[in-house]
Amino acid sequence: MLIGLVLAALAAGTGYAVLDTRRNALADAERDAVALAGLLAAQMGHSIGEIDRALRYIEFMVGEDGLDEGKLQPLVAQISRELPQLRGILIFDANGANVIDSALSPPRPVNVGRRDYFITHRDRPDEGLVIGAPVKSQLSNLWTISLSRSLRDRDGRFVGVVAAALDPEYFRNSLKDVRLRDGVVAISRSDGILLLRDPFVEAEIGQDRRSSPIFAAMAGREAALIRARSAADGVERIIAGRRFEQFPLAASASIGVDAALADWKVTSTVLIGSAAVLGSLVVLLGWIVGRGLERMAAQERQLADASGLLRTTLAHMGQGVLVVDGADRVVLANRQLAAILGIDPAEIVPGASLVRLAESAGVEPELFAGAAGPELERQLDDGRWIAFQIDAMPGGRLVTLVDDITSRKSVETELRRLASIDPLTQLHNRRYFFELADRELRRMQRGGTPAAVALIDIDHFKRLNDIHGHFAGDQALREVAACFRATLRSVDASARIGGEEFAILMPATSLAAAEVTMQHLRQAIEMLVVSAGATTISCTVSIGIAPFGTAGIEAALKAADEALYRAKTGGRNQVMMAA
Ligand code: GH3
Ligand code: MG
Ligand code: MG
Repeated sequence: MLIGLVLAALAAGTGYAVLDTRRNALADAERDAVALAGLLAAQMGHSIGEIDRALRYIEFMVGEDGLDEGKLQPLVAQISRELPQLRGILIFDANGANVIDSALSPPRPVNVGRRDYFITHRDRPDEGLVIGAPVKSQLSNLWTISLSRSLRDRDGRFVGVVAAALDPEYFRNSLKDVRLRDGVVAISRSDGILLLRDPFVEAEIGQDRRSSPIFAAMAGREAALIRARSAADGVERIIAGRRFEQFPLAASASIGVDAALADWKVTSTVLIGSAAVLGSLVVLLGWIVGRGLERMAAQERQLADASGLLRTTLAHMGQGVLVVDGADRVVLANRQLAAILGIDPAEIVPGASLVRLAESAGVEPELFAGAAGPELERQLDDGRWIAFQIDAMPGGRLVTLVDDITSRKSVETELRRLASIDPLTQLHNRRYFFELADRELRRMQRGGTPAAVALIDIDHFKRLNDIHGHFAGDQALREVAACFRATLRSVDASARIGGEEFAILMPATSLAAAEVTMQHLRQAIEMLVVSAGATTISCTVSIGIAPFGTAGIEAALKAADEALYRAKTGGRNQVMMAA
């Protein structure tokens, strides 16, 4: 659209400039033609005026002294020399015979008695200067124009004619330099007879040009300016005409319209060419800009799509997302972040302070803006577990993914618990017992008080199984375990480490205190009434106690086993201490 306007303006401007320069070129040509016609009229008028003055002088002399050859011959010779536009001056007597010749003495026997100008002078005394039609001399083959005046004596009687032979070549030569391009300069008599012309066309010299367009235009005027196509050469010209002030002559100067417009054509070609180039550049530029805009729009669309996608993703992902800049200010966050951290959504608007956010959530800010690395986990005040994973982005930004892992955490805990307990009795299993013993050992190595361990074996369990069945045996195992839980302290850890063998770890417990506890336990088990189907059964246990020190759990269990052996051999249902 804009490009269209620019192109239209360019075309209009160029069109105007082309037409304007054409108008100017034609106006310049017209001015040149008018000036040249004026110049010709003035110069030729001056030149002819000089000749006429000379002729009048001779006329005066003859009026004073008659046709005195002795006086007149040197006079005309001198005048002829001084006026280069003349071929010569001749004086004829009343009969037309040549009596004085500026170039020859005596003159050649020539008679002009029948020539028009002679007859005119003879018959019309007031005629003054007569400008003859061009005549071509049979002798010299040169064109000549005669300027003549009649000669009369004191009494006014006709005594002859003085004629100056004008050299048309002289004028033509001076015209050559001033002629306009493809133009014609010409001098005509007021009656239409062509006197001289450049370029020289012999056939036209002396012809009647009354029918020519410029002659018609000059009718009754001092000057005229026309444009006409020449019938002779078909060239269209601007023609200016100008009458002489003192003589019945007119000058015309013309210039070829095509020639006048030649420069303009070059200029306008350059102008149109430049405009075309400029137009092409505008179109090209427009195309480039258009393509750039299109690309930008496409990129914007892509960006909008991408940011829409990002927003949707952020809104629908289960995790909380927080992006902070290098100055610990929120750049981007989703709703889940606030929900997971249990904070006001106002805390996560862009520009919000990270420190304030962390404070509200009750966690350290480093969780969001620390070193990127492995997942970190924190438990919130409400008991939920949250995982934090930081990723570094270009430009100093950090992205933290925040996930509520409470359920994962409880599954893990449950799995760990399952891996550590005995399914039948719900006591710790053998593997976990040794793990606990390890921890206890480390605690003691750090300077804790010694612990005690006890090994417990059900008496004659094989027989119990045999009499009441395996299911009843299992039930007995479960009830013995329940008895452990009911009797022991929460700090004591009991485990099923074999079929019907148990181990008990009593942290920070002296042997004496352990013995009291174990006696207590032994009695509790002895009192147990285990219902097995229709019947009830009871059982006893033998217990061996040993100290658990820095020697390690293996050594402690070995010692306890030895005490247990003694309890068995000593009659069962009793507690024995390691030696
Ligand atoms: P003692 O007093 O000398 O310990 O005699 P005992 O019969 O208990 O002998 P022993 O310890 O050698 O026998 C253990 C028996 O316990 C063997 C097995 O049948 C029984 N038993 C082991 N594990 C289980 C179990 O998970 N369930 C049941 N019902 N019986 C088991
Ligand atoms: Mg046993
Ligand atoms: Mg046994």
